[in-house]
Amino acid sequence: MRAQFPDFRLGTVLATSFTATLTERRGDAVERIPIPDRLVDWLAVSGLTVQSCNAAQLGLARELRESIHAAATAAAIKDALPAPAVQVINDRSTQGRGAAILTPDGNRRWLLSSAAGVEDALGVIAADAISIIAGERDGRLALCASPTCQAAFFDTSQSRTRRWCDMNTCGNRQKKARFNAATRKKTGGEPLA
Ligand SMILES: [Zn+2]
Repeated sequence: MRAQFPDFRLGTVLATSFTATLTERRGDAVERIPIPDRLVDWLAVSGLTVQSCNAAQLGLARELRESIHAAATAAAIKDALPAPAVQVINDRSTQGRGAAILTPDGNRRWLLSSAAGVEDALGVIAADAISIIAGERDGRLALCASPTCQAAFFDTSQSRTRRWCDMNTCGNRQKKARFNAATRKKTGGEPLA
């Protein structure tokens, strides 16, 4: 696909995979859907294939993304849900016309009303966000322990003690930072240069 753009951080939960198209929100933020075609790519790998996307639709997508992030963050820390974010999520949910389809081999597919249906795809994502924020699914909303990330993620681990949005990125970085700090302590601080 489009190699010059940042990779996607794909998880198993649609809504939080979507919010992870912007990472390091509290640090040097990385926008992973910088242009409309990149949203088309993300939707394709997420089972929501659309033919095209324009700038206005990308704007709607990012507005939904940040609204899900805000509402999921509030839910994770048991705060009141921000009303404007709830409004955006509900607007996208009601305006989408995607339908769940059961395949003969027992999988779920999404059928969008038209090939250009970015709004339909956003509706599916909004509905997914509603189901996790409303606590309808088995899991726990939590915030990533990385100070530069703090992404809301959905913890489905047995023990519900996952600390990072992504083990391979935030988790690894934290581990390395702790290891370096421990090494510094052992050797009596940074060498004097
Ligand atoms: Zn993280």
